[in-house]
Amino acid sequence: SNNNQTLLQRRHATVARGVGQIHPIVAERAENATVWDVDGREYIDFAGGIAVLNSGHLHPKVIAAVQEQLGKLSHTCFQVLAYEPYIALCEEIAKRVPGDFAKKTLLVSTGSEALENSIKIARAATGRAGVIAFTGAYHGRTMMTLALTGKVAPYAAGMGLMPGGVYRALAPCALHGISEDASIASIERIFKTDADAKDIAAIVIEPVQGEGGFYVNSASFMQRLRKLCDSHGILLIADEVQTGAGRTGSFFACEQLGVVPDLTTFAKSVAGGFPLAGVTGKAEIMDAIAPGGLGGTYAGSPIACAAALAVLKVFDEENLLQRAKDLGQTLQNRLRELGKQHKVIGDVRGLGAMVAMELFENGDLSKPDAALAGKLVERARDKGLILLSCGVYGNVIRFLMPLTIPDAQLEQGLSIVGECLSELA
Ligand code: PMP
Repeated sequence: SNNNQTLLQRRHATVARGVGQIHPIVAERAENATVWDVDGREYIDFAGGIAVLNSGHLHPKVIAAVQEQLGKLSHTCFQVLAYEPYIALCEEIAKRVPGDFAKKTLLVSTGSEALENSIKIARAATGRAGVIAFTGAYHGRTMMTLALTGKVAPYAAGMGLMPGGVYRALAPCALHGISEDASIASIERIFKTDADAKDIAAIVIEPVQGEGGFYVNSASFMQRLRKLCDSHGILLIADEVQTGAGRTGSFFACEQLGVVPDLTTFAKSVAGGFPLAGVTGKAEIMDAIAPGGLGGTYAGSPIACAAALAVLKVFDEENLLQRAKDLGQTLQNRLRELGKQHKVIGDVRGLGAMVAMELFENGDLSKPDAALAGKLVERARDKGLILLSCGVYGNVIRFLMPLTIPDAQLEQGLSIVGECLSELA
């Protein structure tokens, strides 16, 4: 029969080993912040499919929009025959990306593709080839985005040399001893020892570093980066794939960090569970590539565009940006309370509802406790809660539940986290 055990056996026999699996569970159905597995077990979802479900699993308004679109057409390839949802979505996204200038947008299907294309556009617009990215950054699993990603194992290990022209700056992270000054100095050092600033097309940064550990960049740091870019004719690319779509309390995080990037990438929650991503930026930069240089067969699928347009409506109608701020406050308060009882919680941080706690042996900030994070994720799952870890050291628990999660369910999930800490720490 199709239970977890037999399906996982079949999975391991047929799916490539490189496709990892955090939880040994086969999901059958889901609704808002709840998932049921094929054995009928119910779970509270604090993972949201890795930051994809800010508006919850199968939001009724998103599903209605998708069903309506399915009654019209599912595919033409936008470069062959255009369709309105793609155009309307570009208009709507442009209103939400920071910057008081004319903007244009490219739609694709995945975050990795969005990042790939943002680099192609930056290169074409500047006539330069170099790119600066940060330690601990995550930008994707395609070749160029692997080169940008600042963590080798498991993403690029054993895969040989990655595309060249990528230079590594230190990501600011006060908790682990990298100051903002040291980060800026590491960029100046690149200009001295590795590549002339005149050969750098772009600096790519996640406003809040996601996979790397939910480290929040300060507004003043982002503004220093903006100035540094301007002084050398370098473009600033904000990778908002994980921070975007309202997670941080503004639709894009850069808005509240007071910085206007030249290019912004987005994906994940923007289409509420359907594959959609894109790049938005200054019109003249976006237009640097000639017709035919951008696109893809499925890029900006009408189904995904319809879903995204519905997600934007849901954000307005259900006031989800305010909800992200409130949820983030509640989360941080509750985790800080837990931190008083459990000294393993060495740090609690976040921007809006992009919140994390970082675990250390006995609270010793020089001893990241990845083992404990792993055990916590396992123990919570046994109690019916799906958690996700992250971090350069693997010792961070991040919270990515739907913003639409009912308060009672949020409390239930948080009390499971507390229970697990009491049992394990
Ligand atoms: N950029 C960031 C900041 C991400 O978090 C991710 C995915 N975790 C990506 C890019 C890549 O997106 P995708 O997996 O959709 O290719």
